[in-house]
Amino acid sequence: MRWPRLSHLAIVAAVLAGCVGAGDLAGRYLIEIRQAQHIDELSQIALRRAEDTARYGLRALADVTNASADCDAATMQGVRLHVYRHSLVKDIRVVSRDASVLCSAFSETLEFDKGWVTRDEMLDMQDANALMFRVEQFYGTALGIMVDKSPELGVVAIVGLNDSNFDIMPDTLRGASQVELRLANGIRLASTGEWTEAATDVRHVQRSASFPLEISMRIRPEALAQWDRETYWATVGLAALLGMIFGWLAARALLRPLTPLEELDRGIAAGEIRPYFQPLFDLASGNIVGAELLARWIKPDGTVVAPNRFIELAEESGRIGELTWHLMRAGLGELRELMSADKRFKLSVNISPRHFVTPDFVPSLRAVVHGCGVATRQVTLELTERESFEDAARAAEIVAAVHELGFKVALDDVGIGHSGLSQIQRLRADVLKVDKFFVDTLCRDDSARIMVETLVRLAAEMNMDVVAEGIESDEQSRALAQCGVTTGQGYVMSRPLAPDAFRSFMREHPAKAERPARHRAA
Ligand code: C2E
Ligand code: MG
Ligand code: MG
Repeated sequence: MRWPRLSHLAIVAAVLAGCVGAGDLAGRYLIEIRQAQHIDELSQIALRRAEDTARYGLRALADVTNASADCDAATMQGVRLHVYRHSLVKDIRVVSRDASVLCSAFSETLEFDKGWVTRDEMLDMQDANALMFRVEQFYGTALGIMVDKSPELGVVAIVGLNDSNFDIMPDTLRGASQVELRLANGIRLASTGEWTEAATDVRHVQRSASFPLEISMRIRPEALAQWDRETYWATVGLAALLGMIFGWLAARALLRPLTPLEELDRGIAAGEIRPYFQPLFDLASGNIVGAELLARWIKPDGTVVAPNRFIELAEESGRIGELTWHLMRAGLGELRELMSADKRFKLSVNISPRHFVTPDFVPSLRAVVHGCGVATRQVTLELTERESFEDAARAAEIVAAVHELGFKVALDDVGIGHSGLSQIQRLRADVLKVDKFFVDTLCRDDSARIMVETLVRLAAEMNMDVVAEGIESDEQSRALAQCGVTTGQGYVMSRPLAPDAFRSFMREHPAKAERPARHRAA
């Protein structure tokens, strides 16, 4: 698997993990909220059932309290009819003020009682005239509701309570939970079964607003963890899906290939664009008289990129100034010692015409060269003829300004450019660099020879030196010398070299009268 793919996957995995983590938290939180809502709803259902039971008892008593409440046979006959009509009511009793039973609709039921409370043990209902209490019986527990009928007498309804009425839990929780109906003072009235209390139990209490009743729930947390999981998986699933989408988008944004301009900025910032040097030599003696600084972009993988692949982009995007000063500082820094040891050595630096005419070109040039501690007269600025100056007068002014500072100016690629003789005459350069095109054809084509000879004569008239570039053979060197060209540059002597290689080259080619051995480094 290739690295970009791996990093792609790593980014997707990281974003995915983050989203699933967030989804997990959100899922748990949502489940907690949902469960709390469900438990609340369930306890309200149970409480409503208990309240309905209490209301049922109150309704059963309402008719009895309207009639006379004595223990005489006729009254008791009527009371028995009420009990019969209210199936949940087990008995109705007439009691004294302190709640002792005076008589009962079905006196046999008194034998089922395990105990009877006093009036103080009864709890007040919201309805001030009614009291509520537990009736403990041998066959279960019932709800007692007492209503005062007169200052001396009261009536009590014994209402049956059915435990199964409170079995409201869903299947997942049924075996692991208990629902209890209690009086407000904690006395148990009904429950869904025996329960062994655990500290971790989740508890919930729902109190009635109208009666002294409450529903108490206890649930084992393990069971709760299994309940309502759909929301959790839906949330985590959604988070995972979003994680995949965001991860993919993030990986695409982070790992998208850089645009050529972004790549150039990165290369400039990383110092990957470095100076190479190609020697300039005297055609007669072979002595090295200088060098041309040529930009090379050394990519992190070692690939060397030629300038025609990035100089134009740097010019168009406004990076050429920054790039030129960087190369000039680096190049002069590399050759400073060599240039101060040999004062005749000249370094030519290519300057883009549109950079040359910018307002701060001259002061920046001066600052850079001064900063490097190199004499200005050892630096030649090469202006290509391939591009014409839009404002030739302004270009001539700048040429004059740099001359003033001691720099030399060369017209590069002469013969193939647009501007022609008028520009040569106007700019007042010091050197003419005959383009490789003429050098290539010189030995085969008479017109090329005539052209070079013309340029040499013109240069002599205007007090300019002539350099021929792109010389690949001794034959071309000789032909150029015969035409009157004094200086050459080309693979015949050396290809452009990295700084270390160039310094070695210079050590191997000390100036001498005889022509030295030719060097053909890559
Ligand atoms: P140039 O200034 O005319 O540079 C000469 C070009 O000819 C160089 O190409 C050099 O490697 C190549 N050359 C020299 N001798 C021979 C030879 O014998 N045979 C052949 N086939 N080629 C030879 P390079 O280095 O690729 O540069 C191309 C152009 O890029 C340069 O042409 C120059 O116009 C531009 N350039 C290079 N460096 C810079 C720079 O730092 N700034 C600016 N503005 N332009 C630059
Ligand atoms: Mg050049
Ligand atoms: Mg050239």
